[in-house]
Amino acid sequence: MSTERSSSPIVDLRSDTVTRPAPAMLAAMSAAVVGDDVYDEDPTVRRLEEVAAARFGLEAGLFCPSGTMTNQIAIKAHTEPLSEVICEQNSHVYLWEVGGIAFHSNASVALLPGNRGRLTAAQVEAAIRPENLHYPTTRLVCLENTHNRGGGSCYAWDEMVAISDAAKQYGLARHLDGARIFNALIATGQRSEDYGQLFDSISVCLSKGLGAPVGSLLLGSADFIRKTKRIRKVMGGGMRQAGYIAAAGLYALENNIERLVDDHRRAARLAEVLHQQPYVAEVLAPETNLVIFRLHDNQPAVDFLAKLEQQGIRASSFGPQWIRFVTHLDVDDEMLARVEEALCSIAE
Ligand SMILES: *Cc1c(COP(=O)(O)O)cnc(C)c1O
Repeated sequence: MSTERSSSPIVDLRSDTVTRPAPAMLAAMSAAVVGDDVYDEDPTVRRLEEVAAARFGLEAGLFCPSGTMTNQIAIKAHTEPLSEVICEQNSHVYLWEVGGIAFHSNASVALLPGNRGRLTAAQVEAAIRPENLHYPTTRLVCLENTHNRGGGSCYAWDEMVAISDAAKQYGLARHLDGARIFNALIATGQRSEDYGQLFDSISVCLSKGLGAPVGSLLLGSADFIRKTKRIRKVMGGGMRQAGYIAAAGLYALENNIERLVDDHRRAARLAEVLHQQPYVAEVLAPETNLVIFRLHDNQPAVDFLAKLEQQGIRASSFGPQWIRFVTHLDVDDEMLARVEEALCSIAE
């Protein structure tokens, strides 16, 4: 491994995307039965799409290279030019997908300020445009659960129901960016099967907390997924013997969900330690595996990251004073202890 230090490996808290496939996952991948998925001939991809759709109470799935692609395909399929998408101002679909809504869909965006990324039904309802020649036509509501920029925050079930009901009443489509939906399910005890009633489409990442090397799924009705398949093709996302990576996704769905509680426990522990540090001004209470915190003004994020790096620890800055830690399946308790030690030593 190129990142190995002389004594102990780097503790990489930048993202849950940095995980590498474990030997058992690699074995499942190399044993996969594959075919050309553009010809609909890859049985492993088909099984992954079916298994994931059923889990969320939806009919069909579309396997894609990334969560950016599944989100943008969904938005394209739900909208047309001169229409508008309602989403939170820090949502991934708006902020971290390169302006893809404008690029792919020629659609407008109504940005709402959330509570750690969460919207309310009243906010959504107030943002729906009345019919008027001057306005874009509201078509779609996008929610994000857990919310990345909100520090891994989860929606309460009742709020999602209220938003979904409001959207339905106005004939709007409902899309969920569920890049980290399994973290939300584990943290809240909500049932994945119930989600299909609330959303017309759901995007799920296999390459985040679940530890697969590549891949996201777009889930929806059979008709919707048929439509999205053409959009995936025009974006260049049709893959051939993708069963090898789909097998990693199937392995992840079977083996790597329950263990997310460990990531959440470790995130909670990191927050506790951070609270005790004099250089920390504020910690967003972790709900899942993300810990976002703010440093005091005399402690710029770049300097703090450099001090961590000296001790073999990596994290991301989220602004001049903000840092994000992410726990994941390649961070164990021994590494956690090293991070705790480093955090305390920085104060000295
Ligand atoms: C990571 C992420 C995505 C998709 O990211 P890709 O890197 O394109 O797979 C989408 N939404 C959220 C909230 C994310 O955190």
